[in-house]
Amino acid sequence: EAHNAAVAAAGELNAFIVTTPDHALAAAEKVDSDRAAGKALGAMAGVPIGMKDLFATQGVQTTAASHILERFTPEYESTVSQNLWNAGAGMLGKLNLDQFAMGSSNETSYFGNVVSPWRHKDGGNADLAPGGSSGGSSAVVAARIAPAATGTDTGGSIRQPAAFTGICGIKPTYGRCSRWGVVAFASSLDQAGPMARSVEDCAIMLEAMAGFDPKDSTSLDLPVPEWEANLSADLRGKKVGIPREYRMEGTDPEILESWERGKEWLRDAGAEVVDISLPHTKYALPAYYIIAPAEASSNLARYDGVRYGLRELPDGAGLQDMYAATRAEGFGDEVKRRILIGTYVLSAGFYDAYYNQAQRVRTLIARDFEKAWAQCDVILAPTTPTAAFALGDKTDDPLAMYLNDVFAVPASLAGLPAMSVPAMLNGDGLPLGLQLIGKAFDEQGVLNAGLAIQ
Ligand code: GLN
Repeated sequence: EAHNAAVAAAGELNAFIVTTPDHALAAAEKVDSDRAAGKALGAMAGVPIGMKDLFATQGVQTTAASHILERFTPEYESTVSQNLWNAGAGMLGKLNLDQFAMGSSNETSYFGNVVSPWRHKDGGNADLAPGGSSGGSSAVVAARIAPAATGTDTGGSIRQPAAFTGICGIKPTYGRCSRWGVVAFASSLDQAGPMARSVEDCAIMLEAMAGFDPKDSTSLDLPVPEWEANLSADLRGKKVGIPREYRMEGTDPEILESWERGKEWLRDAGAEVVDISLPHTKYALPAYYIIAPAEASSNLARYDGVRYGLRELPDGAGLQDMYAATRAEGFGDEVKRRILIGTYVLSAGFYDAYYNQAQRVRTLIARDFEKAWAQCDVILAPTTPTAAFALGDKTDDPLAMYLNDVFAVPASLAGLPAMSVPAMLNGDGLPLGLQLIGKAFDEQGVLNAGLAIQ
């Protein structure tokens, strides 16, 4: 019954691409049988979670919200989802997202946009974007359809949707969660992480998801810390950095107000708040929108009509025609835009001017953070420049859409752990998120500061 009610609610939000009630039920039943057998229960025993449809799930379609993978059913399980099943969790279904995780509003999905469960205080007719690319994940958690969901974050796709829907989400240090079995977007940036209602739940779920994996060459060979057991909102002795370059034009005044309140809450928790500088911040967004498409254009070359999903083979067509027809039919506009940009910036004549230059900028951004850690332990910033926008508002203007990621991408380029926690409601009754950015491997510092705010 609960499942059917959830499916009906989720249907209105268009949050699921496919539901898998038997999977969740089997996890619940295992709790009973394990208990009866006197076996210890895993940290996520029986918890029914949503799975972003970017994670390969054995025997369950894995689409990346694309037409080209619409009929793809993997024969293998991603490491992160397997880790979650090993901890006892079950899967309610595969969640909608931006196609190949490219987008900030879930509107690039082949299966249609997700609708945020939030409504403008005065009613208003406009349906709001749940954020992206993990828009199905944010919507089901915010709507209380699932207690938690997986997300992936390449340039903000966990944090921005969490902020738009008033939930928590953490992108761990690059390498903490295995990328094996996660459909690749930009491999040097892609990280999985949890999205849930509280910092505590994120800590529990991240512990289950993380861990060294020999099948991912960039996986961190470090033990998974006991983040949940070490949660503490006592920040005495900690310094919180406020990066002055994040005071950007175009930021909503209420976002700035939430930032001020965040400082106060962290001071109340015992922290000292200090001004810091991250001088190359303004180059992060352009560098990201060169590096991410470059890697995407290379990663997406594998979808050729031969190996996975869709194949368009017009009458009398040769191999090249098949490639062209399959990719023309199978990829959406935003994905094609990224492939074109990526191919262009990697081409012989432009490689140095664009791709190499962006890589240099990436190094400078990482160094900015390195220097900042001499002055502070964790950084507090907004997650997004505005609250959730209405669906359709930015679909005709890719640059306006990309601007949404302005506060999220620096931590991505530097590979640092970063979290969004709900801060307050704005005048329209919509949630605003605050972002905490930590040193590499210091998810604990991020979670603890998040706990002091939530
Ligand atoms: N919105 C960003 C983009 O479109 C980030 C996406 C992501 O983190 N997957 O690239």
